[in-house]
Amino acid sequence: MVSNPISLMATPRRGHYDAIIVGARCAGAATAMLLARAGLKVLAIDRKPYGSDTLSTHALMRPAVLQLWRWGLLERLLKAGTPLIETTTFHYGDEEITIPLAASSDLPGLIAPRRTVLDRILVDAARKAGAEMLHEVAVGDLFADTRGRVRGIEIRAAGRTAVRVSADIVVGADGIGSLVAKCVDAQTLRRGAVSAAHVYGYAPVEPGAGYHWYFRDGIAGSFIPTNDSLACIVASVPTGLFDQRFRLGHARARIDMLEALSPALAAQAARAPKDARLQAFRGVPGYIRQPHGPGWALVGDAGFFRDPITSHGISDALRDAESLARAILNGSEAAFAVWQQQRDMIANQILDTTDAIAGFDWTLDDLGERHRRFSAILKAEVQALAGQPMPARRAAASKPSTYRAAANQDKPPAELSRNRTGARP
Ligand SMILES: Cc1cc2nc3c(=O)[nH]c(=O)nc-3n(C[C@H](O)[C@H](O)[C@H](O)COP(=O)(O)OP(=O)(O)OC[C@H]3O[C@@H](n4cnc5c(N)ncnc54)[C@H](O)[C@@H]3O)c2cc1C
Repeated sequence: MVSNPISLMATPRRGHYDAIIVGARCAGAATAMLLARAGLKVLAIDRKPYGSDTLSTHALMRPAVLQLWRWGLLERLLKAGTPLIETTTFHYGDEEITIPLAASSDLPGLIAPRRTVLDRILVDAARKAGAEMLHEVAVGDLFADTRGRVRGIEIRAAGRTAVRVSADIVVGADGIGSLVAKCVDAQTLRRGAVSAAHVYGYAPVEPGAGYHWYFRDGIAGSFIPTNDSLACIVASVPTGLFDQRFRLGHARARIDMLEALSPALAAQAARAPKDARLQAFRGVPGYIRQPHGPGWALVGDAGFFRDPITSHGISDALRDAESLARAILNGSEAAFAVWQQQRDMIANQILDTTDAIAGFDWTLDDLGERHRRFSAILKAEVQALAGQPMPARRAAASKPSTYRAAANQDKPPAELSRNRTGARP
């Protein structure tokens, strides 16, 4: 395992935690918050600075907004200036279908917070609940005991010996390139067949705008109102087309795509300052990874990735953070098995319906039906989430036993072994 030595800005306060979480954005910070609220001693570590941005657009779907409301964070996001979105419009070629978002007291509409806002609010909530949140610290490796059960993490800093911190469970919330998934050699249970590229930038927007999703044969675009009176404007194409058309410059190719989708959308994008930076994601096929094993679990993109075209990654991260927290708090092998079964079921549905859109093999006539299939899954997801109790410790247990894979693994061995990959001492 190759690690990046970086300067150690902070060190953990304890030598042992109930749970250590690698990555502290929507999946990691949410998991940390829920476990800390239930009384566990939690450490979450992220190599990026507190409140920093990341490669992601911002459209939250109903399940994510519901989760944020259930966790008492929706109000904070609205107070941070995140605009409320009350309509969503699908543009199939020249045809427009506008859908008002039925408001209720718990879900007044949708929101698309910048990640600098959303991730910071989740980190603050985790810290307030008692979790220790360290930023600008990179986890370089995991270590395991002689039976292969993960026992903790290693933090390395230039010119200093590695610091080992142990935990009952290590959670990888460390995104697509997950170090935790690599260290434990998490099996890929399924790979998606397609990928799409997304190129986005920001332009001023008038208050009250809704989501707009644009489609023409072989290309797509989005208009996502976010914080600071800006809209995130995205051009989406199959990765193959991106490689051909965006090779010589993102700005010109993106405007050409937006122009082809809708001259009005291209005109909105042209309101951005001339030197505004664009962000580009070339695309990665979706995957579903084995999400747990002895002493470890994966949540968010570390365990399940689907193309961003359906704007469901953050919803998946928040949903799985809560269900994983429930399994950790229960601590039994059966609870982890149930968690995986439920995660696999919804993840397979989301991956199927997302790939059906991200594959760009549709016509404008059948795309509406594919969107309706995706929407039906969201509806069922919202209903299931609304009925869930908040994660809590089992009444009788003072501390969860946290995933004992087999009865003979109950006693921790006297000595910790080197990391499982054996790549470094
Ligand atoms: C172009 C694009 C657009 C998207 N648009 C949307 C959208 O509109 N709506 C939506 O819902 N989803 C969207 N998504 C998906 C969404 O961004 C992800 O699903 C979401 O970010 C997953 O959150 P996460 O917490 O699992 O991982 P991440 O957000 O990737 O966070 C992982 C964190 O782990 C940290 N980390 C990694 N390795 C280490 C280490 N060794 N030590 C310490 N820290 C480490 C990283 O610094 C990072 O901060 C989009 C994705 C992309 C790429």
